[in-house]
Amino acid sequence: MNQEAISDNLFSSQRYKIKVLSILGAISSIGLFFPNEIASLCELDKNSVHLVATASGLIVFISFCFSIRCPSCKSKLVFYALSNKKFNLWMSWLFDLKVCPKCGFSNSHYNPKSTSTHHKKI
Ligand SMILES: [Zn+2]
Repeated sequence: MNQEAISDNLFSSQRYKIKVLSILGAISSIGLFFPNEIASLCELDKNSVHLVATASGLIVFISFCFSIRCPSCKSKLVFYALSNKKFNLWMSWLFDLKVCPKCGFSNSHYNPKSTSTHHKKI
């Protein structure tokens, strides 16, 4: 397996967070787009489904903001992107990020061996 292809942006070691949050965001958006169907399935009020879906979507977004961090200085990269980049460009800037804007850390200094020690039990 080519490790260099995996570690192409600054927070590539945190991709599992993005996957989990994307799945949770997709689940909460189902409640936003199909409130009538969910309400009839779960025997709930349509407004309650909307409220829960909106709240869970907000929680997912806040989790995204707090969990994607620089591996070195732990600065919150999503907050940095939201506050320093244009609204329509912050996400593409974030996913192309190779060097931390605060501490200058680069993923080329990252050693994947330190986190991926998988030992087979005999
Ligand atoms: Zn940093």
